[in-house]
Amino acid sequence: MSARITRRDFLNGVALTVGAAAVHGIVPPEMWAAAAADLEAQNVPGYVPGYYPPAKTGLRGDHAGSFETMHKVADGAFWGNPPKAVDTGESYDLVIVGGGFSGLAAAHYFRKAAGDKARVLILENHDDFGGHAKRNEFRTGGRTILGFGGTYSIESPAPYSAVAKALIEELGIDVPSYHKYVSNDLYRSLGLKPRIFFDRETFGTDKLVANPVHTGEDESGLSDEGKWGLQDFLKEAPLSAKAKQDFQRLLTGDKDYFPGLSSDEKKARLVRMSYAKYLTDTAGVSDEIVKLLQAFPHPLFGVGIDAVAAQDAWGLQLPGFNGLKLDPTPGQGMNRDCIHNDEAEKYFFHHPDGAATIARLLVRKLIPAALPGNSATDVVLAKADYAKLDEPSSAMRIRLNSTVVKVNHRGDPAAAKEVEVSYFTGNKLKTVRASNCILACWHVVIPYIAQELPEAQKRALASAQKVPLLYNNVLVRNWSAFQKLGTSAIYAPGMYHTGVNLDIPVSIGGYECTKKPDEPIVVHMMKAACQPGRPAREQHKLGRIQLYSTTFETYERNIREQLARMLGPGGFDPARDILEITVNRWPHGYAYEYNSLFDQFWLEGGETPCQVARKPFGRLAIANSDADAYAYLDCAIDQAYRAVQELKK
Ligand SMILES: Cc1cc2nc3c(=O)[nH]c(=O)nc-3n(C[C@H](O)[C@H](O)[C@H](O)COP(=O)(O)OP(=O)(O)OC[C@H]3O[C@@H](n4cnc5c(N)ncnc54)[C@H](O)[C@@H]3O)c2cc1C
Repeated sequence: MSARITRRDFLNGVALTVGAAAVHGIVPPEMWAAAAADLEAQNVPGYVPGYYPPAKTGLRGDHAGSFETMHKVADGAFWGNPPKAVDTGESYDLVIVGGGFSGLAAAHYFRKAAGDKARVLILENHDDFGGHAKRNEFRTGGRTILGFGGTYSIESPAPYSAVAKALIEELGIDVPSYHKYVSNDLYRSLGLKPRIFFDRETFGTDKLVANPVHTGEDESGLSDEGKWGLQDFLKEAPLSAKAKQDFQRLLTGDKDYFPGLSSDEKKARLVRMSYAKYLTDTAGVSDEIVKLLQAFPHPLFGVGIDAVAAQDAWGLQLPGFNGLKLDPTPGQGMNRDCIHNDEAEKYFFHHPDGAATIARLLVRKLIPAALPGNSATDVVLAKADYAKLDEPSSAMRIRLNSTVVKVNHRGDPAAAKEVEVSYFTGNKLKTVRASNCILACWHVVIPYIAQELPEAQKRALASAQKVPLLYNNVLVRNWSAFQKLGTSAIYAPGMYHTGVNLDIPVSIGGYECTKKPDEPIVVHMMKAACQPGRPAREQHKLGRIQLYSTTFETYERNIREQLARMLGPGGFDPARDILEITVNRWPHGYAYEYNSLFDQFWLEGGETPCQVARKPFGRLAIANSDADAYAYLDCAIDQAYRAVQELKK
């Protein structure tokens, strides 16, 4: 239990083996209009008194108001009848598009190089900073309960670079001290174990059963807990006798399905076939087992085993590979998430609001007045003062609710001294000028706003399909139903949300996590919006549409129904026990990571699309985690650093 609980483990429900509800709906458009008018009247660009986005519930993540303008730009409607541009007269040394971690880190590195007096403006289309690193706050019974709306933890499959590590240290985060803050044994001490929920639509009956599948513990793919749980699982699981035999064979058998082939030859086969195909066509297991394992890679890739290579499944220690006796070195074309690294494994830190704490520390460094306090722990409960983010007297400014619609050089990009950046906010189109611009926003957006870029680069940028995800936080009155059912973490392969978990118990900086089952807690529910059977990028595109077009009412109904079905036998009543819901909708979620099943170049080597996409152009440099096709915070930092070095040149 001293080991980290990875995103994969946590969201898969294998983590921590260790009256009417007042639920708010989507923010009504008239509220936004009123807020915008208010801001204009006060001439305060972005904030009204009491403006505090972390406390908003309802539909968050890519919330209403954050995406509509950019969608209009993308479908051509915006420039059909554009509002007249207003020149703010502002000019900066650097304008950064995107206030996610990469944008914040770029501001930090630029100011380090150019000095604190350098004038820097970050333009961000959401109502909060941090991008995916999103803080959700709830209030109940006089206390604040935190949840992570996006980025879960400091964790990466590969070791943090010296640059990324140095930033984490500079922010004061002592990663090795994590064990002091987490109550690793809390759930285990109460007898709570990971479980699988079999649903009646997929498996014929609703049933909660011991989860015997663990990853990363030993070669067999079974943790001690898992070995212990396998017998229970085989007894209880609503699977046919053949499926149970197949499953046991996968977990414990040692048949070589490719006799006579070398390890490299076996990997060369595995890299081109999906794990689902490997299970049915090579290992010959029943479809029921495919259904059982289908959603296992959701937390990492946002797709199921139909779109994950068998070689990657081997790297993730999924069952079925014991008998192949593969050489442990990574095979060609393996996804970086699937390559185990001991050093990386140990570098882990989860804050109660996920990486939002890290974003807040970075904002404190950039604009100290915006976040009171002076330590990496007191920041957890510090209340951000959003009015301080964009003060005219400050050299460093962060302007929220501002969608950049155009970035162009003033003159020939090769010789221009300035860039003009146009952004839409409060129903107005405004412009600022800058000596340099870093595009730290999603790469799919860049071809629309930086039209001067070469066509080949725009194509490469456009190929960075984001992975659509839902990270829902549900504040419940208590977790006694979890206790009665003996679980803290549920994997539900056939349900709307495939991972349902009690919050990770971390107490830090005066924040006390919930430790008693009769106290309120945040339940985290995760969904990957995918369409099995299609190529990964196509699944992501369809999933994105699905997430944007689903109403809060539907999300809410799915949450309530699922919790009722899974936890009802433990006494859970959604009408009585759900206090608040925050749906974090991320249609533009993880950076797309290359996949040997669909990206030939990843197998063959050579320049990757992200390398083409991130080339500097005139006074523009390009950051974001898309710039290295790697869905991790350290990537956002590394790419910010690179972009700033390019500007320095
Ligand atoms: C749900 C989820 C969970 C994750 N969990 C982890 C984890 O546990 N550990 C980890 O290391 N990584 C995790 N990641 C990945 C990690 O969060 C990202 O790699 C990192 O935060 C990306 O930062 P970024 O600045 O590159 O992008 P983003 O955070 O996406 O920031 C880019 C910003 O640009 C803005 N933008 C886009 N277009 C415009 C425009 N036209 N004008 C103005 N602004 C614009 C976007 O709205 C966004 O806020 C997770 C990601 C997601 C989605």
